[in-house]
Amino acid sequence: MSVRVHSAPWVLTGGPSTPVAERGSATSNRGERDGAIADGAIALDGNTLLAVGPRAEVEARFGKAERLDAVILPALVNAHLHLELSHMKGWVAGGEGLPAWIQLFVAARPRTREGEPEQAMAMAAEDLVRAGVAAVGDITNTLASLRPLAEAGIAGTLFHEVFGFAPSRFEASLAAARAARAAAGAPPPGLRIVESPHAIYSTGAAALEALLRGGPGSLHLAEDPAERDFCATEGGGAFGRMYASLGAHFEELRVAGRSPVAAVAAHLRPHHLAVHCVDLDDEDVALLAATGATVVLCPRSNSYIVGRLPRLEALLAAGVPLAVGTDSLASSPSLAPLAELALLWREHPAVPAARLLPLAWNGAAVGASHVGRLVPGAAPGVLAAPFDVARVDDPFEYVVSKFGGEERAFTWLARQSPASPLTPDSSDRSSR
Ligand SMILES: [Zn+2]
Repeated sequence: MSVRVHSAPWVLTGGPSTPVAERGSATSNRGERDGAIADGAIALDGNTLLAVGPRAEVEARFGKAERLDAVILPALVNAHLHLELSHMKGWVAGGEGLPAWIQLFVAARPRTREGEPEQAMAMAAEDLVRAGVAAVGDITNTLASLRPLAEAGIAGTLFHEVFGFAPSRFEASLAAARAARAAAGAPPPGLRIVESPHAIYSTGAAALEALLRGGPGSLHLAEDPAERDFCATEGGGAFGRMYASLGAHFEELRVAGRSPVAAVAAHLRPHHLAVHCVDLDDEDVALLAATGATVVLCPRSNSYIVGRLPRLEALLAAGVPLAVGTDSLASSPSLAPLAELALLWREHPAVPAARLLPLAWNGAAVGASHVGRLVPGAAPGVLAAPFDVARVDDPFEYVVSKFGGEERAFTWLARQSPASPLTPDSSDRSSR
């Protein structure tokens, strides 16, 4: 065992939500508050975390630390992207709403040249690593993103989309998805593939329900007010006109309801991701909260396509589990989840950075529960965010504003690994 010990003015312990209430007051006299340890340290064996806690305690057990002028924090999660669209960066103009954007997207995609997606995906996967990402929720139609994600050492879930309004079209899509999955072979440790619906405006009600009943999945939901019209009018509004102009017709549309959230809430479970959730009324927020599903916010994409931002305060107040994603490079300038949080932080001055950063630590939302929190015995991926100032008073704000707002590259202290050489029994709890 070759142990490395790093200390820093701040160590953030992570977790999907502010863990201070769970930890109680016992930690407050040890320099820890709200998941932040002042003058903290970590001990690592390879990629496995041996201990995290106050520097004095970790040094007493593992020896003198190498002092870093930085914030040490768990690696991050991008819970919604489409890696396979990376080559389409700058191809599709936004600002006219989702139906118009989809039409431009459909028109632009055939411009794709052979080999272009693979090249762009490899570069985008490297960018994810530079942005501190250790796990993703990646949307794919082709499974082509499996290889670049695996090669970059990224964990998480590939949500393999199955489309089709008409039952015959859906069955064909499902068969094609299963054939592609069989051909792709078993995913490497840490990555899983699940069949997933796309959105209420692209999947018939019966198929949507069957896919959601089948287990974990991800659904684009309430991204644009046009979805509300589409549900309320059973196929009308701007989406109805879009399908008409594309020459598409659907035989069995019954995704109907007061709103897109109301149309699917009965089928949403805690293992589902509801992505975007921009066009929500109060009733929708309450419905979502009751499902336990995780809402994935992609505010830069929403701002680009729809010109609106999600109702962050309402979602936080309702206790809706949250995560953050970037959407694809076709609608977002980068794949850095913290850049999304920096936008939310600027637009919602009343929400402290300490409440936002946990959105980027929700590994469980993408089936990678070892990512996003510093738990001894696990290998979550550990980052350092170096200082360019003498002193940092709020480490959450420093990370969100500098490493999110300016997209500075993180230093990796350890990479994620789903399997750890240590058993849970040997994990260190003494520093908690
Ligand atoms: Zn998306």
